[in-house]
Amino acid sequence: MSPKGQRWIWAAATLAVVAAASSAQESAWRADPEIAKRLARITPAQVQETVIALVACGTRHSASESESGDRGIGAARRWLVEKLRAISAARGGRLQVEEEWTDLVSATRLPGGKARGANVIARLVGTVEPDRIVVVSGHYDSINSKYDLRRGGIDPVGDAPGADDDASGTAVAVACAEALADLQFPMTVEFCAMTAEEQGLLGSEAHAKKLKESGKFVELAITNDIVGASRGEDGIVRNRFVRLFSPCPAGLDSPARNLARHAVDVAKLYTPGFEPVLVFRADRYGRGGDHTSFEKLGFPGIRFTEPREDYRHQHQDVREESGVRYGDLPEHLDFEYLAHVARLNAALVAEVASAPPTPSDVRVNGALRHDTTVSWKAPAAVWASQVAGFEVVARSTTAATWEKQFPGGTESSAVVPVVLDDAVVGVRAVSKTGRRSAASVPVERGAAESRPAR
Ligand SMILES: [Zn+2]
Repeated sequence: MSPKGQRWIWAAATLAVVAAASSAQESAWRADPEIAKRLARITPAQVQETVIALVACGTRHSASESESGDRGIGAARRWLVEKLRAISAARGGRLQVEEEWTDLVSATRLPGGKARGANVIARLVGTVEPDRIVVVSGHYDSINSKYDLRRGGIDPVGDAPGADDDASGTAVAVACAEALADLQFPMTVEFCAMTAEEQGLLGSEAHAKKLKESGKFVELAITNDIVGASRGEDGIVRNRFVRLFSPCPAGLDSPARNLARHAVDVAKLYTPGFEPVLVFRADRYGRGGDHTSFEKLGFPGIRFTEPREDYRHQHQDVREESGVRYGDLPEHLDFEYLAHVARLNAALVAEVASAPPTPSDVRVNGALRHDTTVSWKAPAAVWASQVAGFEVVARSTTAATWEKQFPGGTESSAVVPVVLDDAVVGVRAVSKTGRRSAASVPVERGAAESRPAR
């Protein structure tokens, strides 16, 4: 459709919504000053500290040294536990810090096919529905060139600095913990350093499974993986955006994709000038990450990755060849850039964990009409004191992000002036403090688009 055609649709819609305009304005979505204040705590020096400490462990291969105080994955694990405990102690003692141990099994990527490993998790328990979880993570393990059997096989001993892949993502999770540890959210937030991502997402898989089996529900799982460099392999610096990947198993939409859209709106409020650029693909082509472990179990997972990767700095033995420096070293990172990514993560986590859950069971009816009836299931009774109302959102079928919002009232249905033939319509919950959930859209033709009822 031409832009002119799209304007016609919205023009028809706008005429009918004049009466609602004043109440829409009253409830305009604004940044929460308490959240904004916390984001200011995230600095380049702070994220750099985590990256340097992890790189100093030499290697963080999942089967590397675990007893040494200063080398191997054990040293990295202990540093993270101590760091998160110190953050908690300095900010009211609310974080529960734990090592989540698991058996790692990989016939091709671990010597002898197995090892023991631990995710490091700092948990901020929710005040309204603690079993509903927001996860923000990076993976703290690393590998060098010999992950590839053609290049010599597994090497749990040699250096694998892993500054960008993925001390950078781990630094984001730690920075989010430091920024938000003295707040209390209705939902539980988990700040996670995952292990054994490089052996096939083993740490995140164990964690997602544990959450599922213990009846928890993951509202959002973010993985940050390779988020620290703004200079691409082409030499160009792109420091105003980060790519955001969102799986969509079928149809036009998915809960993950709507969380990615939500991140765009959150960035406008909290990190102006730094934004996520949406990529409507589960991950980079032919590659994967820890968000996949959550998606596989029906939890929405999204992935942040820097704008243009430099493959000379990933999974590479540190060396020089024909004047080119190979290796994943801190010198290639841009800590100001990494701090921007961390602030965006903290804003998204805080906004989602402060809002009521995304409405479920959304239905629309707009056939042979020029308006649309939307209905949804309100969040569980435990949220009644938190919910101020609902907001209906709409976009043309080809738009990447939401273009219009309408007040949705306090009940569980609304009529909005949108021609459904040409639009996608969704609904989001609004808390009494003005925080928004991500939108949920109806299932079209059996696709898994709407959040299942819980
Ligand atoms: Zn990685």
